[in-house]
Amino acid sequence: MTAGGDSGVNGRARGAGREEAIGVDGHDGRDAFAQARRYMVDHQIRARGVRDERVLRAMERVPREHFVPIDARAEAYLDRPLPIGSGQTISQPYMVATMLDVLGCEPEMTALEIGAGSGYQAALLAELCREVWAVEIVEALAARAEAALEDLGYANVHIVVGDGTQGLPEHAPYDRIIVAAGAPAVPEPLQEQLADGGRLVIPVGSRMSQCLVVVDRDGDEFVQREGTPCVFVPLVGRHGWRNHL
Ligand code: SAH
Repeated sequence: MTAGGDSGVNGRARGAGREEAIGVDGHDGRDAFAQARRYMVDHQIRARGVRDERVLRAMERVPREHFVPIDARAEAYLDRPLPIGSGQTISQPYMVATMLDVLGCEPEMTALEIGAGSGYQAALLAELCREVWAVEIVEALAARAEAALEDLGYANVHIVVGDGTQGLPEHAPYDRIIVAAGAPAVPEPLQEQLADGGRLVIPVGSRMSQCLVVVDRDGDEFVQREGTPCVFVPLVGRHGWRNHL
């Protein structure tokens, strides 16, 4: 994505991806958003093969419009990423769903997210896991994400400001780790902070395009496989891209 974000080079499922702004000027704007949410899940997500029912249900519940800037709310359910300020984006719904599908969360798990951005994916993780830690390097975004999550009453997600390439050792290990920005390689500290049997999902590649890499920990072994092509904003920091935000 241009000025940042993941446009999802994942192509489009046939019949999906009709893009239209959702009218919020009707007499019941809340209802219109709920309808848009169901449409998004059916046409952008389910139709393209995302199967985890818990992910689908969580996406039907979390109000995405709450995590985009007010003047972009009518576009919240479009089939693409949207700018959220500070040169960053909220990821395309399908890309978020794909990552969560691969991640495979269970209700008793703890999760770490790197790149909290708007807080949208953190809210979904909070629906899917017992406890969620989400690290964001841009302070202004972290503050907004925290406020949005608090507004919606999520008590099991904690936003932390910092360089997430170093993980968050104080609450490790994590059953699941998800990185929402593109890395040049899998950061060592994130692997180390995985619980035994844990899984890490991270886009790895060049600054311009990546593949989703899945790392499964089995004792001291880390089994890596490559999946869906994607495009994310750069993961910066000590174990990411060095000198660019
Ligand atoms: N998951 C987000 C989308 C995030 S876009 C959402 O649902 O809205 C990627 C985010 O990663 C950006 O907000 C960017 O500031 C952040 N980021 C980049 N490098 C980081 C790092 N080293 N640690 C934490 N966050 C980082």
